[in-house]
Amino acid sequence: MDEIGFRHDGYLFLLDREEDVAAFRVALALQGSLGVPSRELTPAEAAELLPQLSLDGILAAAYCPSDGYATPEAVVQWYARESGATVLQGCAATAVDVRDGKIEAVETTGGRIATGTVICCAGVWSKEVADLAGIALPVEGEARSMWFTPQDGGLPERVPLTIDFSTGFYFHREGPGLAFGGRERALEEVAEAAARRLPVLADLPVQSTWWGWYDVSPDWNALVGEVEEPSRFLYATGFSGHGFQQAPAVGEHLAELVVGREPTLDLSAFSATRFARGAERPEAFVV
Ligand SMILES: Cc1cc2nc3c(=O)[nH]c(=O)nc-3n(C[C@H](O)[C@H](O)[C@H](O)COP(=O)(O)OP(=O)(O)OC[C@H]3O[C@@H](n4cnc5c(N)ncnc54)[C@H](O)[C@@H]3O)c2cc1C
Repeated sequence: MDEIGFRHDGYLFLLDREEDVAAFRVALALQGSLGVPSRELTPAEAAELLPQLSLDGILAAAYCPSDGYATPEAVVQWYARESGATVLQGCAATAVDVRDGKIEAVETTGGRIATGTVICCAGVWSKEVADLAGIALPVEGEARSMWFTPQDGGLPERVPLTIDFSTGFYFHREGPGLAFGGRERALEEVAEAAARRLPVLADLPVQSTWWGWYDVSPDWNALVGEVEEPSRFLYATGFSGHGFQQAPAVGEHLAELVVGREPTLDLSAFSATRFARGAERPEAFVV
């Protein structure tokens, strides 16, 4: 676990609106029924976990001690190494050859690859990649930023991934310091909520920043499944900011579909056909 920077520090949502408390209670009940040890905390109990929080206006918190976080690029490297798969970098798919409803090959900038099966998992570029096979996948990009501090402001060793739900400000440990972000693109816009909820952050220098695309679907839930035609075109995209945590389960599911094994999990609710069927399920806990 050290290899992927895994920290078993929990997840903590801070709630300052009655309607959010009600929605989280429904989610906690569902999680509890499935054996997840998440629970509601009072503001005083949240302060015990992180004394540096300023909890003005907080009505309740949702906490799951068994959650954690890890370093995504280390996890990707681990899978690439351990799976034995061949990873071709800098090799873009430029066309999908389909004959009589069946995939025959993928044309790439590195040459033609004969295959009968394609998985479209191109993140925010999935719309264009699916279009190569004449398939419409509704994925749009939304830019999100993160910032990194070189010190931790004296926070306890165990810092849950903490989310101020109404503003979207969140933070967690990252190396010797902290990583934080929010729904806005500019530091100045995130800084106000950040300094209000975690005042020590206002005294820390920002060492670096990073931004990336959320690959957003129309209801902010992932698109996972297989199209009817052409045959053997699978997709896993539109993760809308949840892709890292959902990746292990979705990856196993796709592997089962590829080899024709009965899927362990029923992920049919994530099919991209849900929009045409009026069966979309708007994600309530978007950060
Ligand atoms: C600021 C920020 C914070 C986030 N925080 C979290 C979090 O806390 N928890 C969480 O679970 N998720 C989080 N996410 C979301 C998560 O990072 C994504 O859901 C995840 O990275 C998606 O992975 P992916 O493999 O589906 O797509 P990507 O990582 O986008 O990979 C797509 C790949 O497809 C390749 N590609 C594109 N076009 C082509 C082509 N034509 N041919 C071949 N290859 C192509 C690209 O080069 C890329 O390598 C966050 C995202 C951002 C931006």
